[in-house]
Amino acid sequence: MNKERLLGLDDNSVVYDDHFKQFLHPDVIVPLQELSRVAAEAGFLLALASGYRNFSRQLLIWNQKVSGARAVYDSEGNIVNMTILSDDEKLWAILRWSALPGASRHHWGTDVDIYDRSKIDANYQLQLTVAETVEPRPFAEFHLWLTEKLAEKNCPFYRPYAVDKGGVAPEPWHLSYTPVANQMSAQFSLDLLVEQIQQTDILLKESILRNIEEIYQRFIKID
Ligand SMILES: [Zn+2]
Repeated sequence: MNKERLLGLDDNSVVYDDHFKQFLHPDVIVPLQELSRVAAEAGFLLALASGYRNFSRQLLIWNQKVSGARAVYDSEGNIVNMTILSDDEKLWAILRWSALPGASRHHWGTDVDIYDRSKIDANYQLQLTVAETVEPRPFAEFHLWLTEKLAEKNCPFYRPYAVDKGGVAPEPWHLSYTPVANQMSAQFSLDLLVEQIQQTDILLKESILRNIEEIYQRFIKID
């Protein structure tokens, strides 16, 4: 596996899936179709809010959040006043909801954000918040079912951000395809990430590099 794949710099490592409407690692598609099939049998319509996201896309989101061109939210969903924060505080505020470019599991094409489209209409504004996944909100039933499904011994998916470890907010909708994601995770390294950030034109660079070890432990080496 080359480092471009680990950092989301190789768009050729993924394929576009017409059904899920996302770019994905080719190995993920059949297992995801299977999960979608059993979900349908249980009355759900498994849809993807995101699949593969490349480095430049993540970098654009990052720089827009730092510069104020894109809103940053706190754990309760309120907009953060970034202008009064120190650089380190800005860094952690953004990391609550957005991965550092290079440090997103979505770069691998093995990870997806899913929801149950059968419970919402076309006007529904998908938020991907924990509140949406518990009663009385639309995806509560789906997530109860998913928790049982993921607990089955042969299920090839898992939730890497199931619980809040002080880093990423809990993301019950985020699934990893274990066989390939574990390979990616095993080959990823702190040095790789540091080298990539050093050569990237990214806002808050000094603060990122000062905290990079902690970011790496909390967001990449989560298992
Ligand atoms: Zn995700």
